Amino acid sequence: MILAIDQGTTSTRAIAFEVSPSGSFSAVAVSQIELAQHFPRSGWVEHDAAEIWRATLQTCREVVRKAGGVDRFAAVGITNQRETSVIWDAATGEPLHRAIVWQDRRTSDVTTRLAAEGHEARVQAATGLILDPYFSASKYAWLLDAVPGARERAAKGEVKLGTIDAWLIWKLTGGQSHVTDATNASRTSLMDLATLQWREELCDLFNVPMKALPEIRGCADHLGDCDASLFGRALPIHGAAGDQQAALVGHGALRAGDAKITYGTGAFLVANVGHQPVASTSRLLRTLGYAADGQVAYALEGSIFSAGSAIQWLRDGLKVISDSRQSEAMAQTLKDNGGVYLVPGFTGLGAPWWQPEARGTVIGLTRDSGPAHFVRAALESLAYQTRDLLDALKTDGAPPLTRLKVDGGVTANAFAMQFIADICEVEVERPAFQEMTAMGAARLAAFGVGLTGELWTAPLEAPAVWRPRMGEAERARLLKGWRGAVKAAIIAAGGDEP
Ligand code: ADP
Repeated sequence: MILAIDQGTTSTRAIAFEVSPSGSFSAVAVSQIELAQHFPRSGWVEHDAAEIWRATLQTCREVVRKAGGVDRFAAVGITNQRETSVIWDAATGEPLHRAIVWQDRRTSDVTTRLAAEGHEARVQAATGLILDPYFSASKYAWLLDAVPGARERAAKGEVKLGTIDAWLIWKLTGGQSHVTDATNASRTSLMDLATLQWREELCDLFNVPMKALPEIRGCADHLGDCDASLFGRALPIHGAAGDQQAALVGHGALRAGDAKITYGTGAFLVANVGHQPVASTSRLLRTLGYAADGQVAYALEGSIFSAGSAIQWLRDGLKVISDSRQSEAMAQTLKDNGGVYLVPGFTGLGAPWWQPEARGTVIGLTRDSGPAHFVRAALESLAYQTRDLLDALKTDGAPPLTRLKVDGGVTANAFAMQFIADICEVEVERPAFQEMTAMGAARLAAFGVGLTGELWTAPLEAPAVWRPRMGEAERARLLKGWRGAVKAAIIAAGGDEP
């Protein structure tokens, strides 16, 4: 068995995967704990890294117990929310500040200034990433400045920085390993995409000392051994990848032209472009797909900042639903959107717009508009945002997609899946087993530890498929409405007309 840890934005999960001799994976035990999110100011989002570690340990222990004990496990695989930045004390292993979550915009002044000074082309050429507060580098620098004495102590190796994978590996190994995998490292703005190593010049630009950063390893490398006191045996950690890249592996999107999109809190399209990076002219990110067994696959990625979080807002902010599942039936009480569009720019707009200052915008309200219109508009926004990303992929010359592989909490919503197929003019395929992120981590670890000879083999159960059935005229009319809404959101935030 493989113990997979899936540390997400809203929860921490551990899953035990049984691996059959033929290489098929089945989840035999799961444990999950919700994670508190903190919003201390507008645009700020934080997690408590100590809470993340406690939940990881608790869920892992529960799963090991449920699955029959630690001796049944061969290795641990980790996947995690990317970019979220942790600072901790090397001696005590305690966080020195709350973790800054990927959605957090507090460092937008830094990345705006660097862009104004003309650094974007250089950063983009080296890392594939644009200048945006989303990535870890400006978050690391902020943490080093916010914690008294941290800069001096980091220079002496007493303070460590890392994304969630590095934080968990540090805790799991009892402080023995300060390592990260190349996919997580590729999201910091500090790693050179060609060499898969930190680049001094970028560390200087962002004012992050390389000494505080973890060592970069491949996704299926040996990353350390768990402290024997945690589970009763020193289980090796043999796989790690950021959540979106892990999902790419989980779906088996291993060839150029394969693409997947994960609809969780945010939504992330990752399209495999093969062994050489492809430059984007439409502001998609040039990034790493995975690096395992000497093979490197590059990808183009488009991030939607608010997907499932728009449904959370309907539930917790607007209070028009009490459970996210209600959104499907409520949207279907309407025959159409009634001209109402919601642009869920709660934490800015991601690709291809990249407008950190944009905020949520609703247009088209009439006296007939009610709660169901907000619900439907939120679900429809998933499809429109996906369409914008697929159009950008086309512009960049990526091979046209015939099928979109989907996973994540939102894919439970059949209304949204059909609407995505209709608006994007693509077949939407949802695998029978939904935890593609955890599955990817498990496959990497199983491959890394030698339990399987191949990174991926097709699952036994058939996927669910939604096919486009909307007429061309209706699609064009809806997309026109959406584009008007995006324009309104950007202009309302003081941006230039797109
Ligand atoms: P993450 O890994 O980012 O924590 P998950 O993949 O667990 O996210 O998905 C959780 C998200 O899915 C939440 O934002 C929630 O609002 C949304 N969600 C869950 N069920 C549904 C549903 N039936 N319809 C729409 N959204 C849903």
